[in-house]
Amino acid sequence: MDGALDRIEQLVEKGGPHLLATVNPEFVMRAQRDRDFARVLDEADLCLADGVGVVWAMNRQGCSIDGPVAGVDLVHPLAALCAKRGLRLFLLGAAPGVAMELAAQLRAANEGLAVNAHSGGPEPENDVDTLHRIHDHHADVLLVAFGAPAQEMWIDRLKNRLGVSVAIGVGGAFDYLTGRVPRAPRWMRRARLEWLARLVRQPWRIRRMAVLPVYALKVLRSPRA
Ligand code: UDP
Repeated sequence: MDGALDRIEQLVEKGGPHLLATVNPEFVMRAQRDRDFARVLDEADLCLADGVGVVWAMNRQGCSIDGPVAGVDLVHPLAALCAKRGLRLFLLGAAPGVAMELAAQLRAANEGLAVNAHSGGPEPENDVDTLHRIHDHHADVLLVAFGAPAQEMWIDRLKNRLGVSVAIGVGGAFDYLTGRVPRAPRWMRRARLEWLARLVRQPWRIRRMAVLPVYALKVLRSPRA
């Protein structure tokens, strides 16, 4: 996490636009068949390992990494960094009211934090309104919660018009952080079973998660470094 925050700080200092992705096994599997998504991930300025599945694959392939940096865990430390460095934060996505509620929560936790929010949507008809709000706030850091791959494709499509230094896709993070979707109990997170808790609470994920055994097989079959 410290390393990720350092990198993000460097990217902000360089000026934007930079795209950051929080990659989980579902991303990797989708990128195998979706060339556009694969290109966007390839071109991303920083890909963080969102979960133990990606950390495992990286370690197996000779890329040493201590642990995951999930999008949901990044939000609070990043908000603290923004408050400390005077960077302006914008939260985009999730159901109406969710991002606003999270913004209020982050404001209360970080004195002086300039944060604004909007639910918006990834469809092009929302672009003018959404861009207007982001520009109005003079945002430096943008968190986008449209779910993957919509959020990464949205950032890629509008990258040069956002006016932010860093834009990060964070999936369902706003729902977790405002308690709309409960997170796994601590013991399950420690036992690296968060994926199982997700499945029990949101059974419709089974279809999306069906790619996980295929992912595991692909990793096991890939050449070991
Ligand atoms: N979402 C949105 N607009 C859309 C589709 C999805 O704001 O058109 C939001 C949705 O409300 C949720 C997030 O995108 O907050 C996706 O969450 P999910 O848990 O599916 O993402 P994951 O973390 O699994 O990528």
